[in-house]
Amino acid sequence: MRHVATKPEPQIVKDVHHPLEHYFRSERLPHIWCSGCGLGTAMSCLAAAFGHLKLDVDDVSVVSGIGCSGRLAGYMRPDSYHTTHGRALPFATGLRVALEKTKPGHKVVVFSGDGDLFSIGGNHFIQAARRNIDLSVFYVNNFNYGMTGGQVGPTTPMGAKGTTAPYGMFEHPFNLPYLAASSGAPYVARWTTLHVHRLQKAMEEAIQKKGFTFVEIIAPCPTNYGRRNGLPTGLDEMRYYREEAVIENFADPKDAEIIPGKPFIVGTFVDEDKPDYLEIYQKFVADHFEVAAK
Ligand code: SF4
Repeated sequence: MRHVATKPEPQIVKDVHHPLEHYFRSERLPHIWCSGCGLGTAMSCLAAAFGHLKLDVDDVSVVSGIGCSGRLAGYMRPDSYHTTHGRALPFATGLRVALEKTKPGHKVVVFSGDGDLFSIGGNHFIQAARRNIDLSVFYVNNFNYGMTGGQVGPTTPMGAKGTTAPYGMFEHPFNLPYLAASSGAPYVARWTTLHVHRLQKAMEEAIQKKGFTFVEIIAPCPTNYGRRNGLPTGLDEMRYYREEAVIENFADPKDAEIIPGKPFIVGTFVDEDKPDYLEIYQKFVADHFEVAAK
């Protein structure tokens, strides 16, 4: 007798949940980021860091500015704020200070991009680092303004092409670990989206540390940066990180500049303890006003 194979019934698996799903607004996914973009990887690392630290969604807030990175605030479940351009840091500062009385251990995470933190928001960055405001700043560096069409910005490496620099960038870019360290940040690190475990660990260290902590995350933008600079897919950019990223902890931040086609340093640059803004402020108030009131 001829055996007729029957098509198996599809198995519908119910009630299976991702262990980190409570950190996401799943109803808003899938995200809008391009194929090969590094933002999804950076967001996954952030959720994994929250999970590893066992952070309750009520114990952390996420603040973003404008740009492709700003979308993250809409995708994450903790109270999240998609603020105006360049103002993620002042908004986060106000939030952190306001919560000190009612939720003193509350974590405020800023997840943002080039324009927001280093051009229109550049002054806010150096002032927040100088004051040592207790914020964890996760900055995605894809070397251009992705959302607005690939214009060059303050982190575009010398010689790299963008829509506003078709013959190549001729301005010096910021060396961000050096800028953060010299502005006073007590924790400064840089990783790429290739180094997911190290990136997650750096995020955990930054969240746990009191004070202004800064992690630069080098990430692909194949749509607007990569394809103009000989790295047309996300994979090409990841290959570039594998070939050129040199892991070196506690290197001098002055040596952290990025030159296309040359090796660049990733790792922890600064990890030190110093009193944060609120600690100094509260001591000042106690010394000058509460004593006078007695
Ligand atoms: S434009 Fe660039 S940064 Fe924006 S989503 Fe696309 S790949 Fe990502």
